[in-house]
Amino acid sequence: MSWCRNLRQVTSQALPSNTKKLATMINYVPKHESVKRSELAPLIEFIQSARSLFVITGAGVSTESGLPDYRSEGTGLVARRPNFKPTNYQDFMKKESTRKIYWARSFAGWSYQTQRQPNVTHYTLANWEDKGKISCLVTQNVDRLHHKSGSKKIIELHGTLFEVRCMNCENILDRFKFQEMLRSANINLFNIDFEATALRPDGDVELSKEVSSNFAVPPCPKCGSGILKPNVVFYGENLPKGRKEQVKREIEKSDAILVLGTTLHTRSGRDHIEHAHKQRMPIALVNIGPSFGDNLAQFKINARCGEVMKFLSHELNNNW
Ligand SMILES: [Zn+2]
Repeated sequence: MSWCRNLRQVTSQALPSNTKKLATMINYVPKHESVKRSELAPLIEFIQSARSLFVITGAGVSTESGLPDYRSEGTGLVARRPNFKPTNYQDFMKKESTRKIYWARSFAGWSYQTQRQPNVTHYTLANWEDKGKISCLVTQNVDRLHHKSGSKKIIELHGTLFEVRCMNCENILDRFKFQEMLRSANINLFNIDFEATALRPDGDVELSKEVSSNFAVPPCPKCGSGILKPNVVFYGENLPKGRKEQVKREIEKSDAILVLGTTLHTRSGRDHIEHAHKQRMPIALVNIGPSFGDNLAQFKINARCGEVMKFLSHELNNNW
């Protein structure tokens, strides 16, 4: 499949039909056992007795909506792509070539990204917030699926892919508008017959050097010169000023912590759970496989979040 054809199809806001089929066939949820109902009794009690629940979610919640995580055995990006390296902040800011590669891939994957839909975990949390159970939802995910399902008390710990930020004047652009800017700036690429491997099921592409070096990234439309960066926290980048303190305040206002679908591998997520633990707050954790929070939690359920939340939603529906 040629890059030329890929790009045309992506720009028409639709993935090639064979890619769509592939995307639905691929399962990003790592291998796991079905949860025993008896294991969930303490979690039901935990949720019922919490008056002001602080929830933190991670990539394990989004895998069930078709988005790969980084590190899961067999299904994560690192396992699927031996050469995969997450974008590094310093590289992005220093090297134009890194920015071209990043934005060319992001441009091609945007349609897939925006077609993802929330799953039972997102909807159950939105419902609990409506009922006054949740005081704050912190997510390490950048995909806006909690917003799509109706949650409102959200802190996006690592930012969001749905905004683009000027690193010079702090102007924030809507990512959909930026897609149009990228399209207009790269019209000439559509006539070049690039060879590239097929679009990957997560919407990313392996680009030839020729494609990425020719991909044009426009500067900030407000100041005319600033570097435009997705409004997410890259590897090697600090959290925006004040965000840590904001999360800490929310933890202190709550009376129980629920951790869903994360290994707490990144320091920014783990620090908050350690803080809650020091405050002697009860912590419950649901994740497939081990996590850095296992020793801090009152109890841990080794299971798929969607399965657990579907059960909880049914059990707790009219019981508070
Ligand atoms: Zn600017």
